[in-house]
Amino acid sequence: MSGGGRIAVVGLGPGDPRYLTPEAAETLASAQALYGYGPYLDRVPVHAGQSRHPSDNREEGARAAAALRDAATGTKVAVVSGGDPGVFAMAAAICEQIEEGPEAWRALDVVFVPGITAMLAVAAKIGAPLGHDFCALSLSDNLKPWELVERRLDAAASAGFVIALYNPISRARPWQFGKAVERLRRHLPETTPVVFGRAVGRSDEHVKVTTLAEADATPADMATLVIVGTRETRVITRPGLSPLVYTPRAAAEASV
Ligand code: SAH
Repeated sequence: MSGGGRIAVVGLGPGDPRYLTPEAAETLASAQALYGYGPYLDRVPVHAGQSRHPSDNREEGARAAAALRDAATGTKVAVVSGGDPGVFAMAAAICEQIEEGPEAWRALDVVFVPGITAMLAVAAKIGAPLGHDFCALSLSDNLKPWELVERRLDAAASAGFVIALYNPISRARPWQFGKAVERLRRHLPETTPVVFGRAVGRSDEHVKVTTLAEADATPADMATLVIVGTRETRVITRPGLSPLVYTPRAAAEASV
């Protein structure tokens, strides 16, 4: 039996509290126990009487199971993710545990509270790079083989999708981003606009526009989201202002 327990999987948005939806704020305020990656939990305002259970970045399965066990005892639990919990984050980890775990977890009240995902926050800083068809890909090969990443990059670039690259690089994965850029150059001109958005919505936010030729020489880290344009993506330079990057809503040709 659920015993009144509830588990909410809550998106915090990219960082700035203004990006937290009222629904997310209410859900967090009414939780009795909070679970999540430590730095994300640190963004959640403290409410008296709430327990906090920070965990390491890599422990998503264990964190999801611990949160579900707690909810199954009747606790109102909130599990937090940066951005949107359904985008390379905790929502799928919770579903995996519910599918594999004890039957009682299927009776729990589970809610998913969306948040603004990084690609939307980065896109909004620079114009409309996602204005035409696009896709999102995680460059992390922790949960899939690198060959699959390459196959998807080939498919996406050759089909004319703008590509949002999550998890471009980390200390444990230093070479993947460079390889991905090499791969994309097989399909796209060197002049293709590329947007780097770092720590968007935080005090150290930085957004940079470059080209596919320069992309692998541009610093990226774990807090960076990269948007790779298409042949159609355009850069509008403006006097004294940062450029606008956009992908026109209409596609000119059927062949790319
Ligand atoms: N659930 C998150 C994504 C988790 S994967 C979301 O919806 O945004 C983690 C990756 O997201 C990072 O490696 C980075 O590529 C991107 N990211 C998360 N927050 C970001 C931010 N504030 N600015 C730029 N990229 C960010």
